[in-house]
Amino acid sequence: MTQPERILIIRLSSLGDILLATPVIDRARAAWPAARITFLVDRGYADLVRTHPGLDEVVEFDAHGVHRGPGGIAALSEALRPVDLVIDLQHKVRSVLLAMLLKPARRLQLVKRGASEVVRALMGQDSILRAPHQVERYLAVLEGEAPPAPPDFVARPRLKPEPHWLEAAAARLPDAGGPYAALVLGARQRTKLWPARHWEALGRTLQDRGLRPVLVGDPANGIPAGPLAARVGGALPVFENGGLGELAGVLCRCVVVVSPDSGPAHLAAALGVPVVALFGPTSPERWAPRGERTSALTLALPCSPCSNHGSGACPLGTLACLESLSPERVAAEALRLAGWA
Ligand code: SF4
Repeated sequence: MTQPERILIIRLSSLGDILLATPVIDRARAAWPAARITFLVDRGYADLVRTHPGLDEVVEFDAHGVHRGPGGIAALSEALRPVDLVIDLQHKVRSVLLAMLLKPARRLQLVKRGASEVVRALMGQDSILRAPHQVERYLAVLEGEAPPAPPDFVARPRLKPEPHWLEAAAARLPDAGGPYAALVLGARQRTKLWPARHWEALGRTLQDRGLRPVLVGDPANGIPAGPLAARVGGALPVFENGGLGELAGVLCRCVVVVSPDSGPAHLAAALGVPVVALFGPTSPERWAPRGERTSALTLALPCSPCSNHGSGACPLGTLACLESLSPERVAAEALRLAGWA
């Protein structure tokens, strides 16, 4: 295609997907260095995305305010015009409508499943459960459109934390109290949650080995950190109800992060913090955090993966994929990645 002058990349949510989509920014920047690249994202994620060095502009999508409904999308399209190339990595009604209204010279979109994949999924054989990795799925949108990637291109998310996030985290977690290890307790889907008794055992082990656990709770999903901190003992620091910038700062204060397959695992990887991600119903081939010091632990049971994003209940009623993932194994991997073994 001819050199686009104005590119719009759309990925509205959620945290993990947005981060895994950021290599598309790098790829587009390498392909069209002179283009103006804008990223459209839900307003809650805008401050994080703004730290990406490949972007010229981040536009906040206000789904419940000024961009609500078809009228809001139409107004947004007026504000964003002109756009030569739209890269729609969301591919839902709102992003499709916006891309159409923008009337760009070229429109690329994430294809979630081809026709044969839809048929196989309906027959219980969903091929995208496993692979390819979501980063590759996003990058595939540019295939045949962008010039070949440079030989040194590395497809992984990267973010640079804002100095004030780091300063706030340093005040919250002073050097004298560390070294710290973040235990991220929450995930939106219940089948991705590691049992509380395992977190408690992990917290005790890390504490015995000289690391101070920071418990990252998720009260919005019914996972408060306070009760667990009390059970582990030692007046552990707790982080919850903060913004994503504050969370990024906290993760950067840690020598290792342990997390379910969820957004904070990808955030840690993008920040270059070692992360152990715990996989049960979802596939590490598709969703493992991408980074230099990342580890995806799974028992690889015959029933796993059973879900693309996790679900409300284990189809077998056992949740053996995470119940049987022992705190001893997780602790050993966390200590190894932290260089503490
Ligand atoms: S079916 Fe298997 S992989 Fe899926 S939630 Fe249950 S134990 Fe985990």
